[in-house]
Amino acid sequence: MEEKQNLNFLEEIIEQGLNEGTYSSILTRFPPEPNGYLHIGHAKSICLNFGLAKKYGGKTNLRFDDTNPVKEDTEYVDSIQQDIRWLGFEWAGVHYASDYFEQLYEWAMVLIKKGLAYVDDQSLEEIRANRGTVTTPGVDSPWRNRSVEENLDLFQRMRNGEFADGEKVLRAKIDMAHPNMQFRDPIMYRILHAEHHRTGNKWCIYPMYDYAHGQSDSIEHITHSICTLEFDIHRPLYDWFIEQLGIWPSHQYEFARLNINYTVMSKRKLLQLVKEHHVSGWDDPRMPTICGLRRRGYTPESIRNFCEDIGVAKRDNVIDYVRLENSLRDHLNKIAPRRMAVIDPVKVVIDNYPQDQEEWLDAINNPENPADGTRKVPFSRELYIERDDFMEVAPKKYFRMAIGQEVRLRYAYFVTAQSVEKDADGNITCIHCTYDPATRGGDAPDGRKVKGTLHWVSAKHAIDAEVRLFDRLFASETPDEVEEGKTFLDNLNPDSLRVVQNAKLEPSLAEARMGVDENGIPQPARFQFERMGYFGTDYDSTPEHLVFNRICTLKDSWKKESKN
Ligand code: ATP
Ligand code: MG
Repeated sequence: MEEKQNLNFLEEIIEQGLNEGTYSSILTRFPPEPNGYLHIGHAKSICLNFGLAKKYGGKTNLRFDDTNPVKEDTEYVDSIQQDIRWLGFEWAGVHYASDYFEQLYEWAMVLIKKGLAYVDDQSLEEIRANRGTVTTPGVDSPWRNRSVEENLDLFQRMRNGEFADGEKVLRAKIDMAHPNMQFRDPIMYRILHAEHHRTGNKWCIYPMYDYAHGQSDSIEHITHSICTLEFDIHRPLYDWFIEQLGIWPSHQYEFARLNINYTVMSKRKLLQLVKEHHVSGWDDPRMPTICGLRRRGYTPESIRNFCEDIGVAKRDNVIDYVRLENSLRDHLNKIAPRRMAVIDPVKVVIDNYPQDQEEWLDAINNPENPADGTRKVPFSRELYIERDDFMEVAPKKYFRMAIGQEVRLRYAYFVTAQSVEKDADGNITCIHCTYDPATRGGDAPDGRKVKGTLHWVSAKHAIDAEVRLFDRLFASETPDEVEEGKTFLDNLNPDSLRVVQNAKLEPSLAEARMGVDENGIPQPARFQFERMGYFGTDYDSTPEHLVFNRICTLKDSWKKESKN
């Protein structure tokens, strides 16, 4: 009984069915339409469908819901497969709704013969206008009572290409006054003279979602067809087709779609961002697409953990973007080696450190994982620190470097700033310090304490890199909510990308290279740049010109830009 309470409602349904012997194993499916790249919302659906099957020893099919030739493409088919594999899942079978076109056509003939479908000559506008409203019944089509023979003939001729787009449709004959609008003679087929990415020009009639989806589920013997909440009003129709055809009974279950604040998740809008060059592509690291998250440096584990953590809801809600980032931070904290990198460098000279001396100091790779060991970092007389780790006069509670204020250089020494050099505009060009040789390794033998510890890089050993600092793509928590005359594009964050060209990295990072995962999919080398956040190599990175993406900051810093 204890355990039961931890089950989500889908798990309860599945366990009940297994216990009662309704099915001996489960088969789920993930049914993307190949009309765009997958996004984090799809990841939720993938984790759910594949996750449930895995948990109960079942299987999951990948089915491309390719019933609209106009918007679909093989480019998307390929990217979808890559994204699912990257997330760590493998499908039992890969299917295409288009493989079922012949079967669906035959079943449509069965319904015509049963007097349950008819060819309608009304235009789409007329059909819409005659559908009625939730409070008023619809109006029967003048073509509703065609004979079975005439319907069979016309439907055959629709298939043969004798009619133009929009000239005729096939509709189910149910009830134009039904309280559920979905039952008011829903359209089953429309005419579309368009080339399909798989079937070419074989077909010029295409089934609608409601007619194709349930029957495809039935053909594959899907036990649990899981979809998002907005389809709950379609469920009775899903059942109706299966019942009338007397075919294998798949069942549909609905859960609340994933919504995340500060982002948009409709493929149409994501496509617009790409087409209008608001981002560099589908895999721009600011995009909520799976390929964007991947390029950004997200790990599959962090996305799976996030999807698990948010659970399965039956009512719509909005998840805070921070939860996705926190899941990422949790994982990167465990796996990312620490390095020192200065992103906005200012020169420091330690006046009492011998001119030609250099020391290679021990630095810990990952305090979370002692097995990662240590590395050596070079220290010398001239260093770089972050420009904003220094102020000439320290305000209260400013514990970083200031004139006369002693601080620790991580793994190295205590140093105290003494004076600065400035250019003609008053910008600090160099900070002069002294160091205490007795504090080597970062502790004072006399036990005196300092409040600030700074990261640094030895100037003569430093390597240069380009660093891309990302922020949220949208400045608004609800980018889709806009005033009259505005669009979601007006909510774009103008500061979502800042590129730094001359970051200074510790020399071990010269070896940082893009890698590949076990599926051959590009994988960034990921690090924690101490105090600065998590960073990973970008696809643009080369040995001659290193490029790092900021995957995320160390803590949630949205709206309160503070380090330390
Ligand atoms: P969009 O509205 O962005 O175009 P879609 O729902 O039309 O998305 P499909 O390719 O049809 O995209 O979706 C494939 C599967 O992913 C469907 O089962 C759908 O329910 C699910 N899915 C899509 N978006 C989300 C989301 N935000 N949360 C959970 N599941 C989702
Ligand atoms: Mg869809």
